[in-house]
Amino acid sequence: MSARTEVWPADDPAAIARAAEVLRRGGLVAFPTETVYGLGADALDAEAVRRIFAAKGRPADNPLIVHVAAPEQARALARAVPPAAETLMSLWPGPLTLVLPRAAVVPDVTTAGQDTVAVRIPAHPAALALLRACGRPVAAPSANRSGRPSPTTAEHVRADLDGVVDVILDGGPCAVGLESTVVDVTRATPMVLRAGGLSLEALRAAVGAVDVLSGQDHEAMSRSPGLRHRHYAPRARVVLVAPGQAAALGGEAVAVMSRSPRPPGFVGRWRRMPADLEGYAQALFGALRELDAPGVETIVVEAVPEVGLGRAIADRLRRAAEG
Ligand code: AMP
Ligand code: MG
Repeated sequence: MSARTEVWPADDPAAIARAAEVLRRGGLVAFPTETVYGLGADALDAEAVRRIFAAKGRPADNPLIVHVAAPEQARALARAVPPAAETLMSLWPGPLTLVLPRAAVVPDVTTAGQDTVAVRIPAHPAALALLRACGRPVAAPSANRSGRPSPTTAEHVRADLDGVVDVILDGGPCAVGLESTVVDVTRATPMVLRAGGLSLEALRAAVGAVDVLSGQDHEAMSRSPGLRHRHYAPRARVVLVAPGQAAALGGEAVAVMSRSPRPPGFVGRWRRMPADLEGYAQALFGALRELDAPGVETIVVEAVPEVGLGRAIADRLRRAAEG
């Protein structure tokens, strides 16, 4: 592991070449995607992938998403590509991860021993340039210490992983701000394992019937181990309340996230979130980190409507509150 972290602008071709070389040599590169920053390593190099788990402090039973530049590269990682997967690949590049039957080339450590592999093509010019330049599939979970809110700027990555990652490509703030939607396409009907940056409405428009993983479905839950782990949590306690209820909960050690303006006389920090769900999603993880300041003991968050991107936002908020 490196003691020094190089930070380069993501739109610099020389930086992309350098980062690609680091990946080919088995190193770790944090890079921007449209969802959040990823912590990448060569997905087919078990030793390199182990470094991701060590750097993040990630439980070994939580599989990684493999990033590729083209559908052919995704097909090469799968034993079979079901018709629903072919249809959904037409939504790539984008915030959509497909869980496919795993081909033998993919090491156990990458998939946490599952017989499936999660794959996506990210919609970010620097991520695509890096993937093309290194020529390998790149395993990349979010570039945060395990359990913390995902990073949506290069500064967030540095705050968690400075000195641990070899290179950070700085591409500014991520456009979507939430992780990808994970869809298991190995079943008769595709199933959303994790809500994310591509809405359920958009998925159904593309492929027809889509199931959503229920916490009661133990067989399906066991196939998505990441869902069991603590996630997205700041150090302060997170409390979820209904819209309009935060105003009454002020205090010196309180910070609020609300889509409404700060009420007159409110004591504590008040972070006004964008009213539109796209804007809210983009600001979410940054706001959680920012409000998690010294002196803040409780972050009170007003719930959002669970439609479109609101489902993924509500999922992250619930899990931040469980942390
Ligand atoms: P992260 O990389 O932190 O965004 O987390 C990746 C998510 O994808 C986790 O929730 C994993 O459980 C899920 N995932 C990755 N690979 C698989 C797989 N083979 N089967 C089911 N879920 C997966
Ligand atoms: Mg993560």
